[in-house]
Amino acid sequence: MTDSEKTAQQVRMCAACPKMCRHVCPTFFAWRSDSPTPHGRALLLHHDNLGLRQLDERAVEVIYQCLECSHCLTWCLPEIDIATIVEDARRILVSQDRFPKGLETIRSSVLSNHNPFCEPHEKRVAKIRFKKTKSADVIYFTGCTAAYREHGIANASIEALKEFGFNVSIPDDEWCCGSPLLRTGFTSEALEQARHNVEILNEMSGETILTTCPGCYRVLTQDYPVNDLRIEKPVMHLSQFLAKHIDKVPKGNLAGGVTFHDPCHLGRHCGVYEEPRLVIERITGESVKEMERSRDNAMCCGNGAGFRTLFSSQAKKIGGERVRQAALTGSRYLITACPFCRNLLASEAGETLEVLDLPELVMTVLRKR
Ligand code: SF4
Ligand code: SF4
Repeated sequence: MTDSEKTAQQVRMCAACPKMCRHVCPTFFAWRSDSPTPHGRALLLHHDNLGLRQLDERAVEVIYQCLECSHCLTWCLPEIDIATIVEDARRILVSQDRFPKGLETIRSSVLSNHNPFCEPHEKRVAKIRFKKTKSADVIYFTGCTAAYREHGIANASIEALKEFGFNVSIPDDEWCCGSPLLRTGFTSEALEQARHNVEILNEMSGETILTTCPGCYRVLTQDYPVNDLRIEKPVMHLSQFLAKHIDKVPKGNLAGGVTFHDPCHLGRHCGVYEEPRLVIERITGESVKEMERSRDNAMCCGNGAGFRTLFSSQAKKIGGERVRQAALTGSRYLITACPFCRNLLASEAGETLEVLDLPELVMTVLRKR
């Protein structure tokens, strides 16, 4: 059976399913409609495959209303991977020039500025405090969000790593990892970014490459190798690196209670669940107060796969719901391990909770000592 025959079989099965997953789909939550659900998307693709109804403008919109959070996969007994099916469909739509035009800004900004935020490339490290070193233990691949929108995460990461005795360098000419383009169907443009990053990372000295962005982490460890692009050093998410060196992380304390939001790209996409919790518990001296939906059942924050750019009010609605779920734990701190999640959750939290990324939490505790 070819790949496209297998996909056709899967969308046929999903189109006829009693929808075991629908109740967890964040876009069903946002719209309360049957179209933006895993089953709704599969039905559209199934009808397109049968030639019953081609993907019209509304259908294209529904395909792009998926966050690719993979939460449906947790609940799907036949294990149908709607996020991957959606991404494949997006690649075809892009090849036909039928993608939502709201994504054009991201595409052209990554190509000309090497970031999706329309920020000048030469300002990429302008807000990051670091000293250039010839030899480094770790290379920090900052990612666009920490560089341009959440530089507190980049600075806290560098400070924490130094505090624990590691020499850190950051690339002189890092480009977008390609995640926003890969997730929205612009593969060839993403691979242009990827090839550059692989080249510069392979030339740098350092034992390990660290990311704080799970989107970067997934792309560097999964999407690059699938596309025959090999980074010749181990790549780790900062949470994994700190967990591996947990003896260097001091036992601290922080009153008020902490809960943890599992980023989709770190948890469901890469299987990293325990490491951030280990670091949080060590540095705060508190057990994580788990939300009802956590680990592989964690609700998406609402920020991913081009969704916030195209559907910002629904992204805020989903983020606001995730904050509400966190507040139910009675915690003062909502910790995540993703600049993207931190950015949206913090914008929705108001005074309810203090939203921090993992390195920001570490530095908050260390500064109080
Ligand atoms: S993703 Fe799985 S559980 Fe959800 S409707 Fe499709 S087949 Fe059913
Ligand atoms: S990947 Fe997420 S947003 Fe997309 S259909 Fe599945 S649960 Fe819904």
